Amino acid sequence: MTKMLKGIAASDGVAVAKAYLLTQPDLSFETVTVEDTSSEEARLDAALIASQDELSIIREKAVDSLGDEAAAVFDAHLMVLSDPEMIGQIKETIRAKQVNAESGLKEVTDMFVTLFENMDDNPYMQERAADIRDVAKRVLANLLGVKLPNPATIDEESIVIAHDLTPSDTAQLDAKYVKAFVTNIGGRTSHSAIMARTLEIAAVLGTNNITELVKNDDIIAVNGISGEVIINPSEEEIAAFKKAGQEYADLKAEWALLKDAETVTADGKHFELAANIGTPKDIEGVNDNGAEAVGLYRTEFLYMDSQDFPTEEEQYEAYKSVLEGMNGKPVVVRTMDIGGDKELPYFDLPDEMNPFLGFRALRISISETGDQMFRTQLRALLRASVHGQLRIMFPMVALLTEFRKAKAVYEQEKAKLQAEGVPVADNIQVGIMIEIPAAAMLADQFAKEVDFFSIGTNDLIQYTMAADRMNEQVSYLYQPYNPSLLRLINNVIKASHAEGKWTGMCGEMAGDQRAVPLLMGMGLDEFSMSATSILRTRSLMKRLDTEKMKEYAQRALTECSTAEEVLELQKEYLV
Ligand code: PEP
Ligand code: MG
Repeated sequence: MTKMLKGIAASDGVAVAKAYLLTQPDLSFETVTVEDTSSEEARLDAALIASQDELSIIREKAVDSLGDEAAAVFDAHLMVLSDPEMIGQIKETIRAKQVNAESGLKEVTDMFVTLFENMDDNPYMQERAADIRDVAKRVLANLLGVKLPNPATIDEESIVIAHDLTPSDTAQLDAKYVKAFVTNIGGRTSHSAIMARTLEIAAVLGTNNITELVKNDDIIAVNGISGEVIINPSEEEIAAFKKAGQEYADLKAEWALLKDAETVTADGKHFELAANIGTPKDIEGVNDNGAEAVGLYRTEFLYMDSQDFPTEEEQYEAYKSVLEGMNGKPVVVRTMDIGGDKELPYFDLPDEMNPFLGFRALRISISETGDQMFRTQLRALLRASVHGQLRIMFPMVALLTEFRKAKAVYEQEKAKLQAEGVPVADNIQVGIMIEIPAAAMLADQFAKEVDFFSIGTNDLIQYTMAADRMNEQVSYLYQPYNPSLLRLINNVIKASHAEGKWTGMCGEMAGDQRAVPLLMGMGLDEFSMSATSILRTRSLMKRLDTEKMKEYAQRALTECSTAEEVLELQKEYLV
């Protein structure tokens, strides 16, 4: 049966392919008494071998896409699978209690997990507990004859269907096979959506219940531009989606002609178009899309892709390769922004009721807990600064005193390196993100002390509207064009210019085609976005006149009372 759904259009692109459900299967079972325990032991052996085969494939894929370090966790899992002590005990339990293999497996692995978990001052043992839990789940799935989904094993064109995707799930998707993903929850600025745009995978989020409506191998048509999803489409619907896909491909080919062109408006003004990146690997896409700078390097992915805190050396190599890859063009590196939807498995932070309002980002860096981590990152950045044009910015600043504290740590580390005779560039700009309304309101005072601002609208909108950026139920409040938000942005830009400083924007709004005319009109200096949005923005700017956009922005700021009015007014200026 054909079924049409509408979700939040989160990453452009159109795709039609088979569904791959990334949902947890039912692993419940009954404990039964058995006479023939040796056939239960044989079932266990078969499930162990099947699990070993699966893990070996997943391990190989992880090494291919993430490097050798990613193999460590799977090696640990494979070791658990061949642990004679544990397997012996499971078989012993099956024989002694005359129970099925599922029950024997659960009893023994639960016991080991509890044992290791209780050694709570030993992080190594805690990790072993997690490994055993994971492995037991896989063996149980094989005993029950159900498949545990794993994105790394997808090897044909697919549309991934999930309740939600974490940034690390998204990082495992191979764009060669995964043509789109559709989820129940999430919004345009959740980090999985941002990564989808970088990977050029179409995405529709916040459909509420797609996982209940789709089975593996159903045919799914996804339009990430309109937010439409059709389950088992008709021939005509498939043709219509393919046509939309072709039109999008044609537009992309037209934009591609602007790769080496300057970003100039119809009246000859220049704006800087920069790219947001998550890893050094993204630099290739940045250059392919003709970016003039990196406006945001989200360094927390360096921490998230790792089994432990990245060392100064590892970080230095990553920053150096980005700076070199940009050939002297500016690179704005943001110090780590852990928290919110970005967690570190090895960094034990207390559970919080409101992680987006909690102990995160710079708040961690300038605390006692984060001090070492922050200093290591700053040293790596300072050492790398000689390889290009580095700019450093701090995320989630609310108070001037937070900036001063962070800047003082930066100065201390810089002085230490210089005393050690390590060369450090002398033109590093140090700025802040404006993502908290308090800082936006006080921008005139901040502007006296910082070198630049970069407006993080993904968070600034959620804090201004008190509406969670991940929650599709309140996505109607997520309004980039609301005059309240525009006034905050305008305040920041004016304040920076009054002190001879510059303002960029690295939130998703900077690449939003309907926001660009307003931001140009307000005099935003730098627009930083997913690399894949740069060329279409260059194409749009070529057609716009800055004087007209100034008038439009002024009227939007002073005459409009709703986001709808702001967009309605735009029509008068885009003819
Ligand atoms: C933002 O908040 O706008 C931003 C760019 O940071 P992030 O999306 O990583 O929170
Ligand atoms: Mg943010």
